[in-house]
Amino acid sequence: MDGRYRVHVFKDYLKFSSAHFIAYHGFREALHGHNYQVSVRVEGGLGADGYVLDFGLVKQAARRICERLDERVLLPADSDCLSFSRSGGQVAVTYEDGAAFSFPEGDVAVLPIVHTSAEELARYLLAQLRGELPDLERRGVRWVEVGVAEAPGQIAYCRQDL
Ligand code: ZN
Repeated sequence: MDGRYRVHVFKDYLKFSSAHFIAYHGFREALHGHNYQVSVRVEGGLGADGYVLDFGLVKQAARRICERLDERVLLPADSDCLSFSRSGGQVAVTYEDGAAFSFPEGDVAVLPIVHTSAEELARYLLAQLRGELPDLERRGVRWVEVGVAEAPGQIAYCRQDL
């Protein structure tokens, strides 16, 4: 069918409550937390089933991804100013000035990003979502966008064309 269609999924339960701190050379935030809220937009044509993409699949995938981050300390594995070491079930994180944290391994999510900004979290979530939804290209989806709100009215988006 003609036209471009967009679905937008934003649900109260698409959230994760996590701790993080932004760190780059010369600056480190104190450890603090956010109630992150996630939304997903998908644009494409209509499939023979009348969907761009089944809302249910998007909700389930986004929920699984949120659950993996919920009640964790989010750490950026690719940071250029933090070093990581693991031993005895603990993850030790040391900033360039020597400030150090140690967390039980089960309490952290070490993510392949440089900073745990909302922007980079959105990019990470988008990559995870694409992994959970392998049918996107076959269905003719044009782009996918993930929004991560750190607080109400304060949202970063990452969009990728397929
Ligand atoms: Zn923050």
